[in-house]
Amino acid sequence: MAQQGNIGVTTENIFPVIKKFLYSDHDIFIREIVSNAVDATQKLKTLASKGELNTEAGDLTVHVKIDKEAGTLTVSDRGIGMTEEEIDKYINQIAFSGANDFLDKYKEDANAIIGHFGLGFYSSFMVSKKVEIITKSWKEGSKAVKWSCDGSPSFTIEDTDKTDRGTEIVMYIDDDCKDFLEQYKISELLGKYCKFLPVPVAFGKKTKWDDKEKKSVETDEDNIINDTTPLWTRKPSELKDEDYKEFYKKLYPMSDEPLFWIHLNVDYPFNLTGILYFPKVKSNLDIQKNKIQLYCNQVFVTDSVEGIVPDFMTLLHGVIDSPDIPLNVSRSYLQSDSNVKKISTYISKKVSDRLASIFKTDRKQFEEKWDDIKIFINYGMLSETDFYDKAKAFALLKDTEGKMYTHEEYQTLIKGEQTDKDGNLVILYANNKDDQFSYIDAANAKGYNVLLMDGQLDPALCNLYEEKMEITDAKDKHCRFTRVDSDVVDRLIVKNDDKKEELPEDDKKSLTETFKNALPKLDKIEFNIEPQALGETAAPVIMTQNEYMRRMKDMSRLQPGMAFYGEMPTMLNLVLNTDHSLIKQSIKEAKPEVVSQLIDLALLQNGLLRGEALNNFVKRSIDLI
Ligand code: ADP
Repeated sequence: MAQQGNIGVTTENIFPVIKKFLYSDHDIFIREIVSNAVDATQKLKTLASKGELNTEAGDLTVHVKIDKEAGTLTVSDRGIGMTEEEIDKYINQIAFSGANDFLDKYKEDANAIIGHFGLGFYSSFMVSKKVEIITKSWKEGSKAVKWSCDGSPSFTIEDTDKTDRGTEIVMYIDDDCKDFLEQYKISELLGKYCKFLPVPVAFGKKTKWDDKEKKSVETDEDNIINDTTPLWTRKPSELKDEDYKEFYKKLYPMSDEPLFWIHLNVDYPFNLTGILYFPKVKSNLDIQKNKIQLYCNQVFVTDSVEGIVPDFMTLLHGVIDSPDIPLNVSRSYLQSDSNVKKISTYISKKVSDRLASIFKTDRKQFEEKWDDIKIFINYGMLSETDFYDKAKAFALLKDTEGKMYTHEEYQTLIKGEQTDKDGNLVILYANNKDDQFSYIDAANAKGYNVLLMDGQLDPALCNLYEEKMEITDAKDKHCRFTRVDSDVVDRLIVKNDDKKEELPEDDKKSLTETFKNALPKLDKIEFNIEPQALGETAAPVIMTQNEYMRRMKDMSRLQPGMAFYGEMPTMLNLVLNTDHSLIKQSIKEAKPEVVSQLIDLALLQNGLLRGEALNNFVKRSIDLI
């Protein structure tokens, strides 16, 4: 019996809408059609396992076929199929109320539209001028039917010959979408969306090398494109390190071996499985982002996971699979969804627990990998208070000799020598061991320890630690980070107020003038001259840079909003040691070549003597010898 009718859409016609508005994501039709086939197959398996099926389930492979001559792409399954009534109910009656408003709002977001209306099947019209459903239900005595629709709101449905149970979706590919009749294109899309579907999906035949023909030839064996039991669906107890590494290779063929991994597995209060990997990252936050792949019951959904996992975790790699994440909705909705928040909190906690446990059980390994994972941990501490609270127990500080300490260990180490007169802890650091060698050396000679803070996030981290790091046995005290070259070593940590004997005001003035006049003009650098009594053994001229200003400049490089600081000239202090004989002599009677020589030496020590000035310095030195 042939039937004719109109698809129950209240708007004039959904097809132009589908075609026009969903342009950005045409590719996903294949995910929708193949996962419908997989769903129907899973339902059949359930029936079979309950003993409700009166025939054999048989081979349940889903087949994807291209027929270039006919211009069709066909997806067929041996799942439960549909009766004519079911087609009417599931395909013809599309709930489509308030469609126009919604479409306006989500024009750009094919996922949202498809999800909202259950338009999975209709996404086939994004690429087809005509679609046929040839189907036969598993129910006893069902007749095979063929539904056909050419992209207008009318369809036909008629009886057809089909002996086998299941459904065949035949898509007559549009002339402007001919790509979807190409082997490589379909292969690529199946690889992207269907790689881990739970039912075998065959596309073409396996090939093998033929020695006689000297080329690859097709075999009779189906080419199965998916792994039906990907690693995250298996029990962690059954898996070895090698399995995790191999799976990582499969996901990211170009990446180095991962450092650690976490196998996620929850079923209450939400469902979530997955494996997160810590990749080898050294710098450049952006390049590494968006490597986590999100799946919904083994169907690939997206690899942009902002809003689902905490921001800093987008630096991790791996897969997350959850039927509880509302996938087919817009991003803004995702971010406010309470399920998503719970998931995000859970993942964050899992990750910090795992790091804490590696730290506890294998500190050596943890230290060896610290340089690779620190960017991740630091980023986490900077962006999530909860993560900071957990990570402060295992976040390490590394000194210029490469020794590593927890916050607590470090405080114990330095508190004797590096507590200032107010009881606050002064943490000294360098960001370049070579450039700041003489300052590090002077600090070490005084019994101070110097940290190496050369990471991308370290300027921000100094601020964070100053704000949050608690002093173990003096809760009202703070810690302060000071770079070794921010002042002369005696003043880095102020331990008492007694002032040294000051130079008479007149001498101070003339000394300052003498050096000021001899200073070179440097682009974007301004000098401040400061006579100071530093003892006879200290260097005659020392160049320092105020911690606060320098850090603001460093931060401005990380944060666009602070560009103002970046524009400001660099202020350098030129400290003249009035206890040194050369300076003393310059007060009495300044020799121009001595003054120039002293200035140049200080510039040289800070990498600021270049070009002609350097050349002059070399010549003058030779003359002096
Ligand atoms: P959704 O899958 O989100 O329900 P679809 O538009 O993709 O929406 O499909 C609508 C319904 O059509 C499905 O729920 C299912 O009942 C039926 N259907 C689609 N494809 C198949 C298939 N290959 N085999 C059996 N039933 C199918």
